[in-house]
Amino acid sequence: MVNLEPFLYVRESEIEGKGLFTSVAIPEGSVFFEITGEIIDEAECVRREDEENNVYIFWNGDHYIDTFGSEKIMYINHNCNFSCYVYEGEEDRLYLQAARNIMPDEELTIDYGYEEIYDMCRCDQCKEKGSE
Ligand SMILES: [Zn+2]
Repeated sequence: MVNLEPFLYVRESEIEGKGLFTSVAIPEGSVFFEITGEIIDEAECVRREDEENNVYIFWNGDHYIDTFGSEKIMYINHNCNFSCYVYEGEEDRLYLQAARNIMPDEELTIDYGYEEIYDMCRCDQCKEKGSE
């Protein structure tokens, strides 16, 4: 992995609230950021989602990573036309991987991958669908 964490920054997003952006170009396929946070089990994940409305939790197939309170990754927005995959590496570690070539000052996005997000989504693709 090439760690581009120092080059990622948070600012206002046209998609929703704040977003995560890159100040450098990222070539397609690069694994460039490790998703870290508090490791929690399923019961705690369900409780936080229900009681705290926490939507900053990632799943790596074995355990859950709560990124709430993180400086950067919790700000990544959903986009159906996403620019990054969540990549599972060794020892169940999760990373961001560029799904295509990303330009400097582009917003980084992923597919959140849960049902409700597609109803709430306001990405260009979904805006078109809504206006038909
Ligand atoms: Zn969408």
